[in-house]
Amino acid sequence: MLFTLPSSINASLKAILVVSDGLGDHPIPALSGKTPLQAARTPTLDKLAAEGATGLVHVISPGVPPGSDAGHVALLGYDPKNCYTGRGAFEALGAGISLQPSDIAFRGNFATVKAHGRELRVLDRRAGRHVPEGDKLAKLIDGLSLPNSPDIEVIVKRTAEHRCVVVLRGANLSRRISDTDTHGRSINVQQSIPLDSSEGAQRTASILNELTQEFHRILSTSRINTERRKAGLPEANIVLLRGAGTLPEFTSLKDLYGIRAACVAGGALYKGVARSAGMDILSVPGATAGYDTDAEAKAQAAAQTLGKHDFVFLHFKPTDSAAHDKNPQKKVEMIEKLDYLLSTLQAGIDRDKTFIAVTADHSTSSLSGKHTGDPVPLLINGPRVRKDKVTQFSESSCANGGLGHLIGKDLMPILMNYIGHTPKYGA
Ligand code: ZN
Ligand code: ZN
Repeated sequence: MLFTLPSSINASLKAILVVSDGLGDHPIPALSGKTPLQAARTPTLDKLAAEGATGLVHVISPGVPPGSDAGHVALLGYDPKNCYTGRGAFEALGAGISLQPSDIAFRGNFATVKAHGRELRVLDRRAGRHVPEGDKLAKLIDGLSLPNSPDIEVIVKRTAEHRCVVVLRGANLSRRISDTDTHGRSINVQQSIPLDSSEGAQRTASILNELTQEFHRILSTSRINTERRKAGLPEANIVLLRGAGTLPEFTSLKDLYGIRAACVAGGALYKGVARSAGMDILSVPGATAGYDTDAEAKAQAAAQTLGKHDFVFLHFKPTDSAAHDKNPQKKVEMIEKLDYLLSTLQAGIDRDKTFIAVTADHSTSSLSGKHTGDPVPLLINGPRVRKDKVTQFSESSCANGGLGHLIGKDLMPILMNYIGHTPKYGA
């Protein structure tokens, strides 16, 4: 069903969706049994919850731990079970690469390996995380030609820190192959294997294995790594690949709801999901996916663009990173930074015409350092929201909220209904 723009009655109502990555958590002994969200001082989030409606969101479905990619696909209103085509494609789109339908895209990590005979042993999956020479390293392997597959074009683009995107362009490729990244679970670089019996999957896996050897050959002999070695830094002497993906086919938010939508994010993945949904990607100086992200700049950019857009998706990454680092105190600090972001945001918008929703793409446990299937808290604040009795924004208090338990893909229709952009079902 495609949207035809309604009368202009609600034309001035706007909505902002703030996603704090991995916000939900477990009760943490080091925080006296509170979750980081309960332990943090969050006057703005609590006020927004007290004046609005709250609930819990099962982002994919109850008990299923979402990846950040599938979680965001769901939060933007799409059913990940139908339209998820692999993480790599979102990373590539977010990095500004124009993907072709037959391309296979991967998320890559510059990493440190040591050769033991024919095996490549992984010493650091992130080459120390700090890889300021990343752009130069990417240039060394961008456009490389594979001796056994000269018809394949290889595109490499660095995104941030140790991260990059790799795209294979050529005929008869498949995303049905396994990763070369060890995911920290094994010692040696993995051989990619086909995940089905198709010729394309077999060919792509063998190309990936050849490519991995070429990455190592070129990078390990580069001057940059000689200098890193001399400086006592881990060499960035390979790229580990994961999340093979192909160009997703989404109906744009404009066609679904008749809205002009924009994205404020630091990480390539989130920009890529937003780009797939047809959103404008704002360039905000200081907006990163790290702990240092400029919360004020992001909030101001989101508030200002409401003059041109009906809907803004604002992504805040560091809450997830702190939990992956098993650092609950850092997560508390980052949640307080999120609260500051919200206070700047609400100061910059017309509260009588703007809805603010705050939620997460999944819970991330500061105990295990992993994503979990626990539902995430949600608040929606705005001029026509049915206020409930919840006065705090936390996992347990939102369980008593008036929005009840929602599935992730149902959030967008709810927000669009508030601003008058959910099409009528039936005549
Ligand atoms: Zn996430
Ligand atoms: Zn995560």
